[in-house]
Amino acid sequence: MCMGESGGGDTDGRHHQQGQIKQTCDDQDFSCKEESEFQFTPTPLNNPVTVACIIESPALRSNELQLCMEVCKLPDMGNEWDVLIVGGGVAGCAAGVWLAKAGMKVLILEKHFHPRHHIGESLLPASMPILADLGISMDAMLNRYQPKYGARFCDSATQRYETFGFAGADQTPPSFQVSRAEFDAELKSLAVSAGCRYQDHCQVVSWKAQADHAEVFTAQQQIHSGRFLIIAAGRSRLNYRGADGVSDARDISNRFGHLAVYNYFPPFPPALDDERSYITLHLISDGWIWCIPLRDGSTSIGAVLKQSGVQQGITHQEQFEQALQRCPSLWNRLSNVAPLDEYRTAADYSYRPATRYGPGWVKIGDAGGFLDPIFSSGVHLAINSAQLASQAVIQYLNHNDPSQFETFNRHMDWAEGVFEAFIERFYHRDLVQQLFFADYRPAHMKAAITDLLAGRVWDPENPVIAMLAPKSAVSQEMKF
Ligand SMILES: Cc1cc2nc3c(=O)[nH]c(=O)nc-3n(C[C@H](O)[C@H](O)[C@H](O)COP(=O)(O)OP(=O)(O)OC[C@H]3O[C@@H](n4cnc5c(N)ncnc54)[C@H](O)[C@@H]3O)c2cc1C
Repeated sequence: MCMGESGGGDTDGRHHQQGQIKQTCDDQDFSCKEESEFQFTPTPLNNPVTVACIIESPALRSNELQLCMEVCKLPDMGNEWDVLIVGGGVAGCAAGVWLAKAGMKVLILEKHFHPRHHIGESLLPASMPILADLGISMDAMLNRYQPKYGARFCDSATQRYETFGFAGADQTPPSFQVSRAEFDAELKSLAVSAGCRYQDHCQVVSWKAQADHAEVFTAQQQIHSGRFLIIAAGRSRLNYRGADGVSDARDISNRFGHLAVYNYFPPFPPALDDERSYITLHLISDGWIWCIPLRDGSTSIGAVLKQSGVQQGITHQEQFEQALQRCPSLWNRLSNVAPLDEYRTAADYSYRPATRYGPGWVKIGDAGGFLDPIFSSGVHLAINSAQLASQAVIQYLNHNDPSQFETFNRHMDWAEGVFEAFIERFYHRDLVQQLFFADYRPAHMKAAITDLLAGRVWDPENPVIAMLAPKSAVSQEMKF
């Protein structure tokens, strides 16, 4: 059973009713906490709106719940959408916004329910104009999130820090560190406002597509069909399969971090006064540790370990503490601080797919490939891929012209190739010393590294990027 739906871009006159629902529930991020906050109006069973907020009410009476369950079964309305999007995370919602604004009828299917926890809190400056285009203003960012002025690396062996500052002349925060529960829920809200139908608690288990038709099958035994399918299901296993059900991913996790174990910590003494304004990446033997201060005063801390740094048969907490002990400056400050949450892990996460698009489908965000998170490239690549893929889908559906899919593919190949090579050098510690901590590094090289760390990855004039770019892409004379 699908447990929630909200918003909608369909054309049969339901917008008025959906507007009423949004008035009731938008402020609660689609989860009404008090029964008195909404009016339960029985809805005709052929009208699939109204469910998201009602289902979340703890005090729902059983007959109402039964009715909601009936409503949750998506009625047979032909299920013909212009675009089906699997995964309502950053990439899926961003694509939904652009497609709906272009007049497409979009259905987003999401396994979970927002707000939900997600890792990946450190954003890059080059993402800010794209977020503004999606409708997230600088004022909104300033009100909700922790300003981020740069990335700082610390060599735990020498206690040496190197700061790559992003700030421009006017001191406007160049970027932010965000609670992803809040940030992702905001993107969902934007997608719904733009006109997407968003269905929560709906897990897609398989899909098929051809040039003008795609179908998805859900764990709730529903079938949805549309003219085109976007797979934005993050690092879910769904991505490892092509339309034929066979894995098409190239696993590159053995070269990078193998396991991330992380938690959230209350305020603790800073090593440097301005620590909260930076992401700090501590280099340790066999891995690295991120510290990402958040707006509520807590800090997201995670250890990323190479295979050689992972000990079998111990708990997540023990794994984390072992890593922390390899970084005395953090260990001394944190050893008596109790974490705020449970320890979570992510493992074996770096991969690149053989293909990003095919007849009737395209993969975006992490579904189209994921790289070790050392340079916080995930959200940036996710929203860029969403933007480029949406343009390609619009061109295809409106003009039967598929040419932009290859443009999208080349852009993503370039960016992932540059970051993959950069990460490769990061894990090769001698090169890190030369690139990040060298005493006699020319100023223009530091500026070039800073630009890349800020996410300006499509600049072929940047000497570091020129060095790292995949040679195949260079030979095609990339023009951005
Ligand atoms: C340890 C770690 C640290 C990271 N740190 C950073 C960082 O600091 N900065 C940064 O920018 N990035 C970071 N990332 C990466 C970042 O989290 C991702 O790149 C980003 O969230 C990608 O967005 P997405 O929309 O592609 O995927 P997601 O945000 O994961 O969204 C995918 C959505 O699809 C849904 N879904 C999955 N399967 C199905 C299904 N079968 N049916 C329906 N729905 C489904 C999921 O529930 C999810 O909501 C980090 C990643 C890891 C693993």
